[in-house]
Amino acid sequence: MGSTGISPTHLIIIIGAGPAGMSVANLMSKAGHEVVIVNRDVKFGGLAEYGIFPNKLKLRGGLRKTYWEILDRPNIHYFGNVTVGLGKDLTVEDLKRFGASAVIFASGAQGTKSIGVEGDSALGVYHAKDVVFHFNRLPGYGDKPFEMGRRVAVIGVGDVMVDIAHWLVRYKQVEQVTAIARRGPAERKYNPKEIRAVCANIDQAALTLEFERIAPRLQTAGQDPGELLKGMNAEFTKCEPLKSKTKMGFRFLASPRRVLTDAQNRVRGLEIEETKLEPKGTDFSAVGLKQYYEFPCDSVVFAVGDRVDETVGLPYKNGVFLTNPASTGNEPDDALFQAYDEASGKVLDGVFLTGWARKASEGLVGVAKRDGEWCAEVVTRYLAERSPQPRPAVDKAIDLIKTTLKDRKVEAIDLAGLRALDAAEREHGSSNDCIGEFKFGSNQEMLAQIQRRRERTGSSARS
Ligand SMILES: Cc1cc2nc3c(=O)[nH]c(=O)nc-3n(C[C@H](O)[C@H](O)[C@H](O)COP(=O)(O)OP(=O)(O)OC[C@H]3O[C@@H](n4cnc5c(N)ncnc54)[C@H](O)[C@@H]3O)c2cc1C
Repeated sequence: MGSTGISPTHLIIIIGAGPAGMSVANLMSKAGHEVVIVNRDVKFGGLAEYGIFPNKLKLRGGLRKTYWEILDRPNIHYFGNVTVGLGKDLTVEDLKRFGASAVIFASGAQGTKSIGVEGDSALGVYHAKDVVFHFNRLPGYGDKPFEMGRRVAVIGVGDVMVDIAHWLVRYKQVEQVTAIARRGPAERKYNPKEIRAVCANIDQAALTLEFERIAPRLQTAGQDPGELLKGMNAEFTKCEPLKSKTKMGFRFLASPRRVLTDAQNRVRGLEIEETKLEPKGTDFSAVGLKQYYEFPCDSVVFAVGDRVDETVGLPYKNGVFLTNPASTGNEPDDALFQAYDEASGKVLDGVFLTGWARKASEGLVGVAKRDGEWCAEVVTRYLAERSPQPRPAVDKAIDLIKTTLKDRKVEAIDLAGLRALDAAEREHGSSNDCIGEFKFGSNQEMLAQIQRRRERTGSSARS
């Protein structure tokens, strides 16, 4: 057992090894607690591994290095390839039964959000997260066909839209990519630095025409179309070199109402409703004008954010896990991190949320890391009022997790397994797609490789 001494300690279980979970694990392990990490993916990193655009090698490499260092600590116990949820490898009830002092959900926002329009299940309609998982080769997505056709409509104007466009423009080299926004150019949400990946492909003439088309509606809302266009164009500097003939464009004040399909239920376009801007507090909202037109395209990607996965088994409502309503609303108020059961009107004692599991699709890695740090502070205050557990009890609980998984024939991957997998992937060298490095495409291949390598060294692939 990897205990750091004989003194009493607390057992902490963290679900999810993305930026938020790893941040909590870092602080909790540094404080001397025994930390169990249960992660759905074989590999750690979450969206840092399977979301961030593959060519961000420095960011990804830095995060990987940090996470390896954390996982290397003797009081951290990694269980990859283990899903928590109703009818899954472990349930929330199982986790409570293991007797941890705190259970922290850092499982991200795994549910998909659709805008619920007619035809959104047609062939050629995709959710951005699935596309991102595809080009980042998350097992289950890497080998799945994503047929984009020649003209792609991406719904949304945030960083995820830019990542999808990046892939379509530079790697798929489709003919046309159009970002569709319900509101106007002033409400675009992407980071100006991110647009550099695709700005060489922006069709300037078409963008000017688009601004002329919407100018009267922008002016009615008190916005200056000329200034807005100037501002947008000013961001199109330091563009990455042109690599394809793809034309990238924008459609503003455009609300998708229906996905139009052909006789084979394949996407042939979008029905779009014109909108206008109406002030809403300090912001603007889009209001439909009941004027419709058809926008031809071969595929549609919804990049409108995500929601949490309600099948995890925590109290859930309207896309989020419920937190204690007795909150001041000011971050990092303890109540905002406490899971809450509306039916009983009570917090789930010792159960906490952090990262995108707490606030779906909110912020970059730095925000998730800070959220993990805040959560660790909240949990530390909670633990201060509880007696630590005797070390043998903690060791017994970790053994119980292992035997439970073994009895259920779950192939949990530990740190040694991760190292074996890493070595096996490195042996394959690089790949020539946007990933630039070799990744096994399925869990089966990963597990087989781990098993093979560990047989060579005479140990088991499972923890
Ligand atoms: C397309 C895209 C591009 C991005 N690009 C950038 C970027 O360039 N720079 C940047 O700073 N940020 C970027 N981000 C944001 C960043 O990825 C997130 O802020 C961050 O990953 C959120 O961390 P998290 O730990 O809350 O969730 P996640 O990263 O989603 O991690 C969740 C973890 O929980 C595990 N898990 C999920 N469900 C279960 C379950 N039921 N049981 C057990 N384990 C489970 C998963 O395996 C995963 O390891 C991007 C996000 C997206 C979607």
